[in-house]
Amino acid sequence: MVLRAVAVDGYGIVHVSSTRTNVTFASAVPDSLVCGVCADALRQPLRAPCGHAACATCAEASTRRSGACTVCGSLVKEEDWVEDQMMTLDVGNLQTHCPYAFGRGASGTRERDDGKD
Ligand SMILES: [Zn+2]
Ligand SMILES: [Zn+2]
Repeated sequence: MVLRAVAVDGYGIVHVSSTRTNVTFASAVPDSLVCGVCADALRQPLRAPCGHAACATCAEASTRRSGACTVCGSLVKEEDWVEDQMMTLDVGNLQTHCPYAFGRGASGTRERDDGKD
């Protein structure tokens, strides 16, 4: 698992992405929103015909490498991956902590991608 649960004073358990250094999730990321390739929260989620999801970059890399879904091994062609709007929304709705909140006593959780206050 690339997402790590870390205890932070005043915030309880947070979930830190090792590949997205600026993103700290306020609660556990559901399995359905975790990439089967990089084991981190999905980025630009694509869905294969078998139903499994991967980040756009992970899907491209694994299709080039093996031509198969990394989770279940069923054959997937590059054009078989489709964008999944629902998953994109779900990932966007995950509660994250502002990366600058820790140690500064600043705001707690906030929505991702909502710009500056
Ligand atoms: Zn991935
Ligand atoms: Zn699969």
